[in-house]
Amino acid sequence: MTAVREVPFFRYPALFTDHEEAFLRIIKDVGHRGAFIMQRDLEACERKLEAFTGIRHAIGVANATDALEILVQAAGIGSGDEVILCSHTMLATASAVVMNGATPVPVDPGADHLLDPAAVERAITPRTKAVLPTQLNGRTCDMDAIRAVAQKHDLLILEDAAQALGSRFRGTHAGGFGLGGCISFYPAKVLGCLGDGGAVLTNDPEMARTVYQLRDHGRDHETGEVCRWGRNSRLDNLQAALISFQLDTYTETMARRRALASLYQAGLGDLPEVTLPPTPDTGAHFDVFQNYEIEADRRDALQTFLKDRGIGTLIQWGGTAVHQFRQLGFTQACPYTDALFKRMIMLPMNLSLTEDEVAYVCDAVRAFYRG
Ligand SMILES: *Cc1c(COP(=O)(O)O)cnc(C)c1O
Repeated sequence: MTAVREVPFFRYPALFTDHEEAFLRIIKDVGHRGAFIMQRDLEACERKLEAFTGIRHAIGVANATDALEILVQAAGIGSGDEVILCSHTMLATASAVVMNGATPVPVDPGADHLLDPAAVERAITPRTKAVLPTQLNGRTCDMDAIRAVAQKHDLLILEDAAQALGSRFRGTHAGGFGLGGCISFYPAKVLGCLGDGGAVLTNDPEMARTVYQLRDHGRDHETGEVCRWGRNSRLDNLQAALISFQLDTYTETMARRRALASLYQAGLGDLPEVTLPPTPDTGAHFDVFQNYEIEADRRDALQTFLKDRGIGTLIQWGGTAVHQFRQLGFTQACPYTDALFKRMIMLPMNLSLTEDEVAYVCDAVRAFYRG
């Protein structure tokens, strides 16, 4: 059949065209100043991130994968150490551990798709050094439970908050629970720039200092002295300026995503064949809905049905969980993840999505199960 409408999963050009005039003004301003690397726009962006999250230090880096690698390194995690993480995460969470010579240990999520504290506890060995929860889909884990396990077993907490800028648990922002966390500004993230970008968040001043050094060839950002081996993982000043601009309206961005999630909830909440994410206002969680990931009966047939109606969907991580990368050496069994990965699918969730389009998607999902 021919699609009556097109509701793509994500509209990449909209990222630019929605703010075209302002972006061009910023690009001109930065360009005319020749301010490309480590200039005032980067600093302004970092200070704004600190003010927004209430986390003491925000340090711009090239992307969130680098941010994680740098965090693991700065935490002193290396050869012989194990780091427990959720199997439902980007492979980058695990690669950041491997690139530091340590071993990632993937475990199952719970019903909320987030790292299960009980699964963490079962995976602890004498080598476990840290737990690295992913604040997935814009939702922060029950960090009380994860902290309790970490404290009991003397583990560090690092957070993969790549998808979770502005997400909170009991008022604390993602990235602010342990030694540090990462944020991604990849275009399709909750706050996307026009390319790659990321940040490290930490409340620990020593950690912050080390991260500043590691991102810029070991050079201390205050003294200018080279203190250690480092790398180049700076956040481009131009991207920082574009991020800064979008931070000014980020409260509205979060509200918009949460409103769209409520519309999906209203449109699909009564269908027995699907399991929806928790509603925007559930207890201690403030969810920013990076993604709207549902569980669905006959998932693959649903995806095809929606595609035929012009609706783009996505199965996160290309449908492969971390522990399923057997060729990378994983041997863990994560049965809950295996089952979840046969059912999960993401519906369109982005700033250019209209209410009308959400209604169209909901109608199509309902039509699939009615037929
Ligand atoms: C996007 C993402 C990353 C990597 O972010 P980049 O900025 O693209 O390196 C890491 N972890 C999770 C959970 C992500 O969604």
